[in-house]
Amino acid sequence: SGRTEPLTGTIVKALSGYYYVYPDGRGNDSVSDPIQCRARGIFKKKGLTPLVGDEVIYSVAETGEGTVEELLPRSSELVRPPVANIELAVLVFSVTEPALNLQLLDKFLAHIEHAEMEPMLCLSKSDLAEQSEQTAREESAEARAALAEVKRIYAPIGYDIVVTSSRKGDGTGVLLERLRGRRSVFAGQSGVGKSSLLNALVPGLTLETNAISARLGRGKHTTRHCELIAIGDGGYVADTPGFSQLDFQELGIEELGYCFREFRALLPDCKFRGCTHVHEPGCAVTAALAAGEVAQSRYDNYVQFLGEMKEKKRRY
Ligand code: GDP
Ligand code: ZN
Repeated sequence: SGRTEPLTGTIVKALSGYYYVYPDGRGNDSVSDPIQCRARGIFKKKGLTPLVGDEVIYSVAETGEGTVEELLPRSSELVRPPVANIELAVLVFSVTEPALNLQLLDKFLAHIEHAEMEPMLCLSKSDLAEQSEQTAREESAEARAALAEVKRIYAPIGYDIVVTSSRKGDGTGVLLERLRGRRSVFAGQSGVGKSSLLNALVPGLTLETNAISARLGRGKHTTRHCELIAIGDGGYVADTPGFSQLDFQELGIEELGYCFREFRALLPDCKFRGCTHVHEPGCAVTAALAAGEVAQSRYDNYVQFLGEMKEKKRRY
């Protein structure tokens, strides 16, 4: 009755009870405005809340107003930022300013493996690894060491590494190619250059960067809505660089070893089932560590996280 046949699309924005849906299948390089939709009352009854990133079936009335009729099954779901169906998490770490933090990197990686999303490492501010009048000698040496260390530890275990400089435009084309046709989110500490990167990648995007917010004298952590930005070939990137952390479902102690990618293949060779790879005899992980096949920092961080998880469990 004056409605279109059911169509499929993606929720790219949620605001004040409306959901904004981009139709699927029309190359979204130059999308027009998304369709403003209300959700069917039935969702509320079932306790379902449509999320940004949800694939939906919707219809449009003659008035132009849309209705979300159905949510399609989710492949992933993040708690914070609240977004569904993200495949790729781009972990942004600057080569310096702030200094590389491998512990944070390994924590992100473990959670992303657990969530069955694909991680990608982006080493930002690569211009600071070059010696110049603007960059102090020690700082550029630290930056070069950080670049080398990440490549040494993470390339052999199969993580994709992209090196970028928003300032010089280096590597941003490569990064954009990796994002096309996929749904991604950026994560990383505040100040590593996530907003600057997104601004460099998306024509017309003008996210506030730290430099600007400092000048305006306000903090960066104002609440922002999560929105998806079309990035070509049906790909989207979540514009949530204000989120320095991704919140995931809780990771269980017995799952942690599995979330360290290079440990995974070794696990069946541990003598004891439920081996925690700390002091058990016949452990394949500690054997690989002794043989130099597992990086010391990865193992140390694993032991550290295991300790934190045990401590947390003990306290609650
Ligand atoms: P975010 O907090 O991760 O979103 O980081 P911002 O994009 O706000 O950047 C933080 C600071 O790093 C700002 O002062 C930027 O000017 C600076 N910055 C960002 N990208 C680069 C880069 O490629 N090279 C250099 N040298 N500085 C950068
Ligand atoms: Zn073991």
